[in-house]
Amino acid sequence: MPRYHIWTIGCQMNKADSAFISECLEGMGMHPADRVDEADVVVLNSCVVRQSAENRVVNKLNSFRSVKGDRILVLTGCMVDSDIDGLRKSFPQVDLAFPPQDFNTLLSFLKERRLVSEGVGGIEVASKFRPTALVNIIKGCDNFCSYCIVPYRRGREESRPIADVVREVEGLTAAGTKEITLLGQNVDSYGYDQPGKPVLADLLAELNCIEGLSRIRFLTSHPKDMNRQLIEAVANLGKVCEHMSLPVQAGDDDILCAMGRGYTLEKYVRLVESIRRAVPGIALSTDVIVGFPGESEGQFSKTYELLSALRFDTVHVACYSPRQGTVAAREMEDDVPAEEKIRRRKLVEELQEGIAFEINKELLGQRVEVLVEGRKKGKWWGRTRTDKLVFFHDEADRLGQLVDIEVTDTSPWSLQGESVA
Ligand code: SAM
Ligand code: SF4
Repeated sequence: MPRYHIWTIGCQMNKADSAFISECLEGMGMHPADRVDEADVVVLNSCVVRQSAENRVVNKLNSFRSVKGDRILVLTGCMVDSDIDGLRKSFPQVDLAFPPQDFNTLLSFLKERRLVSEGVGGIEVASKFRPTALVNIIKGCDNFCSYCIVPYRRGREESRPIADVVREVEGLTAAGTKEITLLGQNVDSYGYDQPGKPVLADLLAELNCIEGLSRIRFLTSHPKDMNRQLIEAVANLGKVCEHMSLPVQAGDDDILCAMGRGYTLEKYVRLVESIRRAVPGIALSTDVIVGFPGESEGQFSKTYELLSALRFDTVHVACYSPRQGTVAAREMEDDVPAEEKIRRRKLVEELQEGIAFEINKELLGQRVEVLVEGRKKGKWWGRTRTDKLVFFHDEADRLGQLVDIEVTDTSPWSLQGESVA
């Protein structure tokens, strides 16, 4: 039996794509291998959203030269642009490069190489038990934020029909999945390209009716597209978790404008206030870029003050990294020195560590519902509806169960607890 190994970096979308590839390959009779040297086919699912991610992919590609042998190396993810021949010239060790989510190209190639049988017609997915699953609902992105390479690599937005998503989620729940996360670069613009123009709130309402499903999440939201209807869906649909990802990126209007984000600081703050009013106790996460071209100390301070005032549960902070082909890389000078970007990033990280410490400390002694996803160092781990990571000790097999946990210790990153009989 041929064996495959997948290496993945990057966003949830890449993780979902890798999970899909892995299920397709198993559906076609291949077996997973833990290590590259045990595999016949190695898939690298790449990310180039920042230079640091791209460097890791290049290192991985180069390290593969020494173990190549007869192994087949497949490259996918956002490193694959339209110039596939150029990519193959730079990395001759790559046997196949295919753009994100172009799974049929992979299938045809494996058939040609006789690694899967000719009889396999299309994508066949082996449905196996997973407590949580990622479900793509919209491909691509039409926003073209000035710094971002994603729209150039993942193409234009394309939503999946509601019936398709519902069918997939029913299949997952039948196999035991209790929680799904609906994915898209901008899930809030879901549906406008579908007949009847359904919106994300409509999809959530349909999924909320699926028996056996306990929790629904969605990410990533875009502040300019988040609307009242969606906020109400989160407030009123019992299975939709009190958790949202709402990237702000910067706390200064001129920077937001140069980023092409389509909202002002005031609009963002009002949006957060209305979400918190409608869904008390909701956990919010955000993304921030520091050192965007032209960002002055004063403009950075506004981002810092915004984060201090809004007190997010999680903040993902990154130093601006110019990406070839984007408007920012073409037209704006990358003028904040690297050490200054790192200083600003560290300031945000320190601030957020303190905020997360205080937010999590408030949970001490409280009961939380945890969906158990796995076991690590002798403890079960899972997440609350608000996406807090929880560890607890239990002799019984708890995988995939919803358990009540009393929080006994907290840190900025996770909670420790004991199961409540
Ligand atoms: N669609 C989401 C949004 O609107 O924010 C996120 C998608 S993007 C792949 C994930 C995060 O990477 C962004 O939120 C942004 O903070 C960061 N990012 C994207 N391009 C970047 C760049 N050129 N430099 C630094 N960070 C970047
Ligand atoms: Fe990139 Fe902006 Fe699209 Fe997010 S919304 S993927 S940051 S272009």
